[in-house]
Amino acid sequence: MKPEQFPDDIRPFLIPQPEGDLVYRCLECGAEYDISRLLYTCPKCQGLFLLEDKASDRLAKKPGTFWRRLFDYRKMLNVPALKGIHLFYELITPVIPLDDIIYLGEGHTPQVAANDALREEVGGAFYYKNDGQNPSASFKDRGMAAALSYLNYLVRRPGAGKMLAICASTGDTSAAAALYAAYLGDKVASAVLLPHGKVTPQQLAQPLGSGARVLEIPGVFDDCMKVVEALADNYQVALLNSKNPWRIRGQESYAYEIAQWFDYDLTGKVVVVPIGNAGNITAIMQGFLRLHDLQIIETLPRILGVQSRHADPVFRYYLEPDKSKRIFKPVTVTPSVAQAAMIGNPVSMPRVIRLVDQYHRRAGAGSVAVVQVSEQEIMDSMLLANRHGHIADTQGGESLAGFRVALNEKLVAAGEEAVLDSTAHHLKFIGFQQMYFENTFPPEFEIKPKPEYQNRPQLLTPKTEDPAQKTADLAGQIAALLDLTPKKLA
Ligand SMILES: *Cc1c(COP(=O)(O)O)cnc(C)c1O
Ligand SMILES: [Zn+2]
Repeated sequence: MKPEQFPDDIRPFLIPQPEGDLVYRCLECGAEYDISRLLYTCPKCQGLFLLEDKASDRLAKKPGTFWRRLFDYRKMLNVPALKGIHLFYELITPVIPLDDIIYLGEGHTPQVAANDALREEVGGAFYYKNDGQNPSASFKDRGMAAALSYLNYLVRRPGAGKMLAICASTGDTSAAAALYAAYLGDKVASAVLLPHGKVTPQQLAQPLGSGARVLEIPGVFDDCMKVVEALADNYQVALLNSKNPWRIRGQESYAYEIAQWFDYDLTGKVVVVPIGNAGNITAIMQGFLRLHDLQIIETLPRILGVQSRHADPVFRYYLEPDKSKRIFKPVTVTPSVAQAAMIGNPVSMPRVIRLVDQYHRRAGAGSVAVVQVSEQEIMDSMLLANRHGHIADTQGGESLAGFRVALNEKLVAAGEEAVLDSTAHHLKFIGFQQMYFENTFPPEFEIKPKPEYQNRPQLLTPKTEDPAQKTADLAGQIAALLDLTPKKLA
């Protein structure tokens, strides 16, 4: 729809001008820093940052009804810079001129309802929100769209020079970073650091195809993270890991979209998220809290984090009911099919602790919970979902497995409706499905395929090489196999 066709009260706000006063706020010591510096942790105390809009009063002056109307109308506007996660521009990157914003088609991922049969089998109603339908096929694009729009803004300023963007990754962060950096062209070069042999061939192919320098080191993600941190501490590089608070900002859009999907009424809703480095659950909690601050939503949804038994430090932390006795201990991970969440020492843990506290204060003690699932439950749940028309990846399987555990443990009430995050596209992790079908999982996964979920192609060999009869023979074999009823000839 053309701007002049929007209602009079919406038109002046439809295409926003940069405003606001964003700073990096240290979560530990409260210090604030100018966003024009390439900082990822507090120089004084090493604390993590969140972005804070010091002029957020201007947003709160408008009622929730105003924002709801604006965001809903803006969906009909055809301006690329306001199409993706930046539909919620005022809440995400309000200081960046629209000309600097990059839109590669991220965000506004579909929410697909479980059909009756699946709902019955699981024992609760739910949707999958398919974040694998983002451009690089994972939710990481949401954060990169914000972080790289910001870098674009920085490098387009006179005298900025060339920038190297770097990240450590369990696969999807590097795919997303390399994609967005490639779009920016010469001004931003990208390098990614991966744990050798711990990402899928698809995930390795993505940054290679986008032209990033791909560096592999022995070890797991946590080892890669230490190396990029050392680089960011000592050299002029832009760090694109989830320490980067712009990524958290971008990923808040997931919460905004869920709110918009339900017409801003989140009563009786549960949002289920797999936890790895804990950036995503941080962003989602923060996103809902900010919507609540601005009275865009009146009710906070319940949040359910899920971890595999093979990588469960957040689950273990919250096992202790007494807040004052909780102690965070990193764990050593063992192989998990939810490989993108296979992290023993989540970078965002201090953010999670803080936000869970805030959430509990506002929405009650049960409003955020973390459950643990087995590798077997993850695979079985993924296959069950996909046999009912979904495209869940292994992390999406983890979400469903966690929802089932929560239903069993009565952490979720009957009648509550869940939104499960399928964080990447099924095809990125297809090798695990293959291992399940062929029963070739190494023993440490502890997965025994269920015959009812296994599926293999069946090779048919023609009984004759005579080209005239070959087709009829194969058709005959198939008809017999599938027990087809012959057509009655008139
Ligand atoms: C990164 C990632 C996760 C984990 O998200 P965190 O923000 O690290 O908790 C889960 N699933 C997929 C597909 C991912 O790429
Ligand atoms: Zn500090």
